[in-house]
Amino acid sequence: MAKGMVVIAVDRCKGCGLCTHICPSNILALSPDSFNAKGYHHVMVTDMEKCIGCASCARICPDVVFTVYREKRVPKKAA
Ligand code: SF4
Ligand code: SF4
Repeated sequence: MAKGMVVIAVDRCKGCGLCTHICPSNILALSPDSFNAKGYHHVMVTDMEKCIGCASCARICPDVVFTVYREKRVPKKAA
């Protein structure tokens, strides 16, 4: 499974929750007790180690909150 990482532009989030339902690794949640500059409960990653870099969150988010990075796997050369 590919390894991924997301960077979240916290202050763009409006707390709609769309991304929290679409993530196949179930690692996105709305912060229960902190707010962003707009006053919304913003999205956060609960376990970055489980991110597979699928970019489903980036595709569904209407406010371009996510930047997704994915580990590049280089095939081993035969000896
Ligand atoms: S890239 Fe995929 S696995 Fe990672 S947080 Fe976004 S939806 Fe979840
Ligand atoms: S889909 Fe975008 S705006 Fe909605 S909660 Fe997720 S990051 Fe925030």
